[in-house]
Amino acid sequence: MPQVKLDIRLLEMSQNAISLIYSACRQCYSAKFAGDIFKEEKVAIEQQEAFVKEIVASGHESPLEHVKFTFAVQGISRALTHQLVRHRLASYSQQSQRYVKESDFDYIIPDSIESDQILKEEFLKTMELIQKSYNTLLVRFKEKGKQGEKANQDARFVLPQAAETKIVVTMNCRELIHFFKHRCCSRAQWEIRILADKMLEICKEHLLSVFSEAGAKCESLGYCLEGEKFCCGRYPAK
Ligand SMILES: Cc1cc2nc3c(=O)[nH]c(=O)nc-3n(C[C@H](O)[C@H](O)[C@H](O)COP(=O)(O)OP(=O)(O)OC[C@H]3O[C@@H](n4cnc5c(N)ncnc54)[C@H](O)[C@@H]3O)c2cc1C
Repeated sequence: MPQVKLDIRLLEMSQNAISLIYSACRQCYSAKFAGDIFKEEKVAIEQQEAFVKEIVASGHESPLEHVKFTFAVQGISRALTHQLVRHRLASYSQQSQRYVKESDFDYIIPDSIESDQILKEEFLKTMELIQKSYNTLLVRFKEKGKQGEKANQDARFVLPQAAETKIVVTMNCRELIHFFKHRCCSRAQWEIRILADKMLEICKEHLLSVFSEAGAKCESLGYCLEGEKFCCGRYPAK
């Protein structure tokens, strides 16, 4: 059972993203029709970007909902995806533990365990025990005539939160900014924070005018809302 690492790929983002957001913004303030603005207006892309940046800074966020990013992610734990899917304004498709047998499951080892010989041994021993137990359950189910997803769906109850999973996630830009505010914060759990940081990096690479100021809440506020006890010190606590 090899240890696996985070692998994130951008599958797709909305085409003509800047013009899309620009046209939606302009629709709010213009007598013209967005259908014509999008197709016919010859405003330089740099000008559109500057306009979009202003709109983002002003807090007028609904035009950002028209542009989406879709990511494929693997090498993450079920502990992470359990937190990820709490973000409701997104779409998810996750590898099933009913249809995909876990007879040789991969898992994620936290650094705090990986770097400590005793903890690591305990962890690996537990993973091995779980695997054996899972396989034993499947054998017993088979003897009783239960196979495929009918057996997998019950055997999976012994699997750990460390079990590796794969997921496709789609979020629009408004939700992504919200997600980054919470999950790029040093208070967020380390694994989802690593994922959020990588997603932010990709978003900045592809749509800087929207994401240039995105990140943990403190980045836009200039102060920390987590209180003295949890403040990481990047900005003063309020
Ligand atoms: C550091 C940290 C610790 C956490 N600890 C826990 C914990 O111990 N236990 C726990 O259960 N959860 C915990 N959470 C999860 C947290 O409570 C949220 O469920 C999660 O972050 C999703 O946030 P959200 O609801 O803002 O996001 P989304 O679902 O992405 O929603 C985005 C925004 O849309 C609006 N919205 C969405 N749905 C509704 C609705 N039904 N009604 C009104 N407005 C809505 C809200 O303004 C919301 O902020 C934690 C999160 C963080 C970042």
